[in-house]
Amino acid sequence: MELNAGYKSPWLNEELEILQDAVRKFYEKEMTPHAKRWNDQGAVDRDAWNKAGEAGILCASISEEYGGGGGNFAHEVVITQEQARAGVAGFGNSVHSGIVAHYIQSYGSEEQKQKWLPKMASGEMVGAIAMTEPGTGSDLQGVKTTARKVGNQYVINGSKTFITNGQHANLICVVAKTDVNAGAKGTSLIVVETDEVEGFRRGRNLDKLGQHAQDTSELFFDDVKVPTSNLLGAEEGKGFIQLMQQLPQERLIIAIQAVVAMERAIGYTAEYVKERKAFGQRILDFQNTQFKLAECKTEATIARVFVDDCTVKLLDGKLDATTAAMAKWWCTQKENDIVDECLQFFGGYGYMMEYPIAQMYQDARIQKIYGGTNEIMKMLIARTL
Ligand SMILES: Cc1cc2nc3c(=O)[nH]c(=O)nc-3n(C[C@H](O)[C@H](O)[C@H](O)COP(=O)(O)OP(=O)(O)OC[C@H]3O[C@@H](n4cnc5c(N)ncnc54)[C@H](O)[C@@H]3O)c2cc1C
Repeated sequence: MELNAGYKSPWLNEELEILQDAVRKFYEKEMTPHAKRWNDQGAVDRDAWNKAGEAGILCASISEEYGGGGGNFAHEVVITQEQARAGVAGFGNSVHSGIVAHYIQSYGSEEQKQKWLPKMASGEMVGAIAMTEPGTGSDLQGVKTTARKVGNQYVINGSKTFITNGQHANLICVVAKTDVNAGAKGTSLIVVETDEVEGFRRGRNLDKLGQHAQDTSELFFDDVKVPTSNLLGAEEGKGFIQLMQQLPQERLIIAIQAVVAMERAIGYTAEYVKERKAFGQRILDFQNTQFKLAECKTEATIARVFVDDCTVKLLDGKLDATTAAMAKWWCTQKENDIVDECLQFFGGYGYMMEYPIAQMYQDARIQKIYGGTNEIMKMLIARTL
């Protein structure tokens, strides 16, 4: 549904509209028909990654010289939005293309970029970022995983949990301590190619409240040896700074997914309340319905204008961490509020999984938690007061 006739995102040009159309068709043909089965099996099919690679959906904002699409963040936004519109929450492309590939492009050596990015763009490699551990999530300084330098290798020990793409990933960017006595300054990002090492083990594909097709998993590293050349960046101890630099983009992607979810929920609900009748009139004819949906539409519009402005800023290299944190917490909170309000208008049907609104309700909850919890976002904003 178009929420506001006549409104067009300021960053959306003709070329991006063509991409939007192509991506929409790709999702309709290759993803949506499998969504239910993927939810039941707890993961997308592995070959969905290869198909997405062939269709140019992976690494769209990575340079062409490394096999990417040669686009910018706007291309990534178009692809993210179409996935969210298709309701295929389990396909972890925003982590793969929007986050992991950018760590490699931004901090990798020429050799690393040549080696990994083309395979990520084709879907031969699936990326994951492993920050969170059983004992620490928000407080990343508390990471216990170590990477000890022995000769020309790092020996990695530790366990990670809640890792998106955990079952399929074969290129994992691991947050580890290269100096256990140096706090944040002892943190580094090291790439593990899982097919090349011993001692790496995947744990459970975790049973979650929503996003069932996402293979969010535990990962274990027991004396995993990788060459020291797998360090991202020229020197050790830069991991925290690298994470902080990339987080605004990661958080904006989550906010954009939230806005599309709001728009979808309102679209479905507007259609339903025009059809369904009670007490001799349409559900839409009750003033309560009109007022509630008017509020939802207003808030979704405010969110849309805000994330579009953040997108323009990011494209200009001007999106600061505070504004990205505002977008992340506010949009994901509103997503949860609006999806809940909308579900109510479906009555009992809203609780039935065959209705997309029920799926959206399940999938929305995590948005307030991952990518930095909404409390952490408010803490970051409060620091600037
Ligand atoms: C589906 C899913 C996918 C995920 N994907 C990834 C991934 O790909 N890679 C990855 O590394 N991680 C991933 N995560 C982990 C996610 O980022 C963390 O769960 C999140 O950052 C919170 O960390 P935690 O679970 O340890 O909670 P905790 O840090 O233990 O927080 C618990 C509660 O305390 C609050 N809290 C903590 N500190 C403060 C404070 N200073 N002030 C006020 N309140 C505070 C939090 O807001 C939260 O409400 C994923 C999680 C899920 C569920």
